[in-house]
Amino acid sequence: MPATAPPGVGHLRGDEPFPAAARRALADPQLRRNLGHATTTIRAKSGAVIAELPDWQQLRDAGSAIKADVMARLPELLERLEAAVTAAGGVVHWAADAAEANRIVTGLVRATGHDRVIKVKSMATQEIGLNEALEAAGIEPVETDLAELIVQLGHDRPSHILVPAIHRNRAEIREIFLRAMPGVDLDLTDDPAALAGAARRYLRHTFLTTPVAVSGANFAVADTGTLAVVESEGNGRMCLTLPETLITVMGIEKVVPTWQDLEVFLQLLPRASTGERMNPYTSMWTGVTPGDGPQAFHLVLLDNGRTAVLADEAGRAALHCIRCSACLNVCPVYERTGGHAYGSVYPGPIGAVLSPQLTGVADNASLPYASSLCGACFDACPVKIDIPSMLVHLRDAAPHPRAESAAMAAAAYTMDHPRLYAAAQRAARLSRLAGPRGRGLPPPLSGWTAGRDLPEPPPQTFRDWWAAR
Ligand code: SF4
Repeated sequence: MPATAPPGVGHLRGDEPFPAAARRALADPQLRRNLGHATTTIRAKSGAVIAELPDWQQLRDAGSAIKADVMARLPELLERLEAAVTAAGGVVHWAADAAEANRIVTGLVRATGHDRVIKVKSMATQEIGLNEALEAAGIEPVETDLAELIVQLGHDRPSHILVPAIHRNRAEIREIFLRAMPGVDLDLTDDPAALAGAARRYLRHTFLTTPVAVSGANFAVADTGTLAVVESEGNGRMCLTLPETLITVMGIEKVVPTWQDLEVFLQLLPRASTGERMNPYTSMWTGVTPGDGPQAFHLVLLDNGRTAVLADEAGRAALHCIRCSACLNVCPVYERTGGHAYGSVYPGPIGAVLSPQLTGVADNASLPYASSLCGACFDACPVKIDIPSMLVHLRDAAPHPRAESAAMAAAAYTMDHPRLYAAAQRAARLSRLAGPRGRGLPPPLSGWTAGRDLPEPPPQTFRDWWAAR
């Protein structure tokens, strides 16, 4: 079995199980207000532009089929990508896990002789804890996406794939800027335009004085070695074109075979994620071009548990994810707890699947339960990932308390033996005599009814009804 993501490096494991972290988040009314407002707004915007496309379902089918094809021949496509990037003047590095990826990137930055990098928003570098690794090596990483910058200056953690500072309102952001942004105007108000202006002034100077950039990648075209980053602020475009050296860290699942395949994803992604018809800034580059853009380009291909996910037939579709965050925005659990409760950089429904898959389910055993299995995530997913089925699959794979396993084994045995089952139903019916419902089951089953009412057994079972007819 391929290796999972190693512990002790990166941000895929929380400090506590989901229920404990969620309980704390639920007690924060400001957080719930911020989340409720933000997810409702994104949902409405996205729903409206999706409704404009008569072939949305066919696009989803196409996206799903392309991803399934990629997974079926991932090694071949990655080797084609490597050959194409190398032929275009780039250098490809293979990182088995987060520690190796951090080592490679830190070494590459050191080799440039610089001690600061500008960063494009990237889930992969968040996943491996690259900022911490760079800081430990004496290199200052500067996030240039506005929300990531808010998170970084606030010494905070991202709580949403697309909108990392979704848990902050503008008054909190003003406070963070006043406290931590170098050279900020002390008369700064919490007007959104003023906040964006302050960030722009700070970042402009940083863009123009930092010759090394680190990015992630949304897609990579195997045929040509072209990398693509989609973003909506233009900060990515600055990072990808101004510096002398560009280092891109990309999960191995992001490869697509051809340019034609990009056509599908570039229609799906903006509508599903930010609710835009077209992505505002789509940057693409192929290796290096003399006299134009970065003159040194390194691509770090990251595994960090992905081949273990690929090996799991029932769970490998999690690698189809294009990180649009639509499943977060429709999830009733995410909307109430926010992202921090998941403990991983990947929150929400896809995080509840992907994090335990990458780390091994024992290290994130509570996450597959962070769902009501309502199916809204499946409906919203632009590449049709059946997240609810995968959650059930992972619940089965997660370690269970002995009492629960014993109870399930007893239930399975009973259901397998019709007479025993009928007797159990009669016994349940007798329990009606024990008084009002809703009191819960006795230990060791009391945990199940701690947050639920015990349904009252019907006065007549189906078998009895059938026999009577
Ligand atoms: S699982 Fe689907 S909906 Fe969720 S982030 Fe990934 S692509 Fe988007």
